[in-house]
Amino acid sequence: MKTKIVFSEKCLGYGTWHIEGPQRVKVASEILKEKGYEFVRPNPASEDDLLLVHDIEYLWNLKKGLVEDPDTPAYDNIYEYARLSAGGAILASQIGGFSLMRPPGHHAGKSGAALGASTRGFCYLNNIAIAVRKLGKKTLILDIDGHHGNGTQEIFQGDKKITLLSLHQTPNYPGTGFATEGNCINFPLPSNAGGKLFLDTLNKGLSLVNLSDFEAVAVSCGFDTHLGDLATLGLVEADYWKIGKRIALLSRPAFFVLEGGYSGEKLGIDIDRFLKGYEENLK
Ligand SMILES: [Zn+2]
Repeated sequence: MKTKIVFSEKCLGYGTWHIEGPQRVKVASEILKEKGYEFVRPNPASEDDLLLVHDIEYLWNLKKGLVEDPDTPAYDNIYEYARLSAGGAILASQIGGFSLMRPPGHHAGKSGAALGASTRGFCYLNNIAIAVRKLGKKTLILDIDGHHGNGTQEIFQGDKKITLLSLHQTPNYPGTGFATEGNCINFPLPSNAGGKLFLDTLNKGLSLVNLSDFEAVAVSCGFDTHLGDLATLGLVEADYWKIGKRIALLSRPAFFVLEGGYSGEKLGIDIDRFLKGYEENLK
């Protein structure tokens, strides 16, 4: 059984000049299609879904195009693009799928930039947080993007149903996540830490949580940890297979939401390796 890829070509419609541009997911989607993955289309998240996480004033401003920072432009209709990406995360949570949608989400806090970060880091709505709240289950969120999931931490800090485990490069944007805070377990890692240290650290983090407490695992799946990418931890294709395997061994229903990863070709191959590692080790 192959994990379904949640994707709509509508997400390619903005931001061609930006590093978080359409090409990354377009090329990745073509690679995954060639490899035989089944694709399903998401519907936009409803405003009620967004309100599970975000302040109404923030949503109004986003809708009017009034929210902009140097990393995160107020593109025409960005509210609709962001709503469809959030809908992708929701559908992934319902079918155990992988949402290959953009914009990403884990830096978006309740009302914008989170935990004192200077920008929203290419994010508009916190897709994974919206999906987790809507699912309503006790959830372990694994954030394996190379940047700290500061928006996700802000949203779930102190939430008894949720534990967030984030591994990330430091020093780097957003300049948060240096230490564990309650239910948000943080492991800053040096640039180009390498696959062994990453896996060892993931195991260490997972040893701190009681897996029987969780009904679901939600993965903020970023691939900018790849060697040479924006938040490199020096990972290569084979490491993503091992990370996927480790998640399969948790034996909990899991779903996956794309965050970073800025080379489309690497992204497509890394996602395939990750999902193969996951599927080949499911019990
Ligand atoms: Zn990132």
